[in-house]
Amino acid sequence: MIEVYNTLSRKKEIFKPREGNRVKLFVCGPTVYDNSHIGHARTYISFDVIARYLKYQGYSVFYLQNITDIDDKIIKRAKETGENPLNLAREFEKKYIEDMKSLGVENVNLYARATEHLSEIINQIKTLMYKGFAYETDSGIYFDESQFEDFGKLSNRKIEDLNVHRINPDTRKRNPGDFALWKKKDEPPYWDSPWGTGRPGWHIEDTAITEEYFGPQYDIHGGGLDLIFPHHEAEIAQMESASGKKPMVNYWMHTGFLNVSGEKMSKSLGNFITIRDLLEEYSPDVFRFFVLSTHYRSPIDFSQEILEQSNNGLKRIYKFKENIDELMESGILENNNPETGPKDHKHEKLLLQSRENFMNAMNNDFNTPMALSSLFDFIRDINRDINEIRISKNTLINIQKFLNEIGEILGFEFISKKSNEDATAELVDLLISIREKLRQKKDYELSDEIRSNLNDLDIIIEDRKS
Ligand code: AMP
Repeated sequence: MIEVYNTLSRKKEIFKPREGNRVKLFVCGPTVYDNSHIGHARTYISFDVIARYLKYQGYSVFYLQNITDIDDKIIKRAKETGENPLNLAREFEKKYIEDMKSLGVENVNLYARATEHLSEIINQIKTLMYKGFAYETDSGIYFDESQFEDFGKLSNRKIEDLNVHRINPDTRKRNPGDFALWKKKDEPPYWDSPWGTGRPGWHIEDTAITEEYFGPQYDIHGGGLDLIFPHHEAEIAQMESASGKKPMVNYWMHTGFLNVSGEKMSKSLGNFITIRDLLEEYSPDVFRFFVLSTHYRSPIDFSQEILEQSNNGLKRIYKFKENIDELMESGILENNNPETGPKDHKHEKLLLQSRENFMNAMNNDFNTPMALSSLFDFIRDINRDINEIRISKNTLINIQKFLNEIGEILGFEFISKKSNEDATAELVDLLISIREKLRQKKDYELSDEIRSNLNDLDIIIEDRKS
């Protein structure tokens, strides 16, 4: 049973998808006008692990992310660099996806670009206009906040309280908090609409995209804490008004910030480290360990020292795994010593308990620091017996399985490295057998080419009679 903290209800709730074991998960994607920084990475690694764990528990997860590829920030940056804004967006989208790949964030099923969903966006705005939730001015189409009585339910605010501090700089708007669904523009980039040329507002792209792929109601919506207000609040207003169905989302999940000296890492503050720069110095596993050592809802303060601590923590797991792998390969455990025989209740019990602790922590709102700490307890309790070879082969095999499960759930690369090596060996065998067939057909030119290319990779083939 998984419990999830829901920002909307402000409490932990038992997780139950709307339809059987199918989970529809949407997380706000990046605005692509610059390289992504490690604050973004914190959020996306957190949701990667959430998707991994749900899958591990047998759910069939469809993970959708939008790409904001049209936005004032993109246009501004393109003006500065003299590029076409859409080309600039494509360039940084490509880099973002490469960065995610290098970080092992690989569970997103579909990246949906705002610019490829203009007709869905326009249709949703039309519905909102038709139902009286939106109105037109000479600068655009606006959502009328006062028409949606639940406005503020996610961020726990009341419009009346908000309005005390608000001024209405645009007197064409009915209420100061009304937000743009469509911005009328006659300078490119723009798209045609029933209201003339223009561009979509930021909030509407997400609800148009989720409605297209998930329908008006789905399971989980995620993003960083900064998106609760106004972005996610606006999304609820748009979707619930357009469909008349509540709730739009069953579980709202938000990640805490990655901070630098107590301040949110952000592009605008200029206090950021790009994912690329970080990965020049640290492995993806070290950064992942660093992120997962804090609960996803809590803030993390980034510093070189904490990263070093993560490096050391990770090394302990590496070493533990290495010792087990070496012991397994050494053949020492093949003897009949009763201590190392097949019955090893003491260690099996310890392993069972640790596995349970690990899963309990993950079930408790994906509490990765608690899960990692249960792994370290296990390593501490069993290490001595492993080093002194007082453990059975069967138990070691079960520990290897447990480590693989952890690797799969938390997404650590080092645990799956072995299987990559296996795959490489299989590929080499495959090339060798193809080459053999070519030789039988007397295609010596191609068979020699394969041999010479493998040679360049330090794989030497010698043709002998046998
Ligand atoms: P943006 O491209 O700014 O829209 O951000 C994309 C996602 O990254 C959003 O979910 C943000 O909340 C999240 N994000 C941005 N900066 C940070 C940060 N310093 N810590 C955690 N998440 C962040």
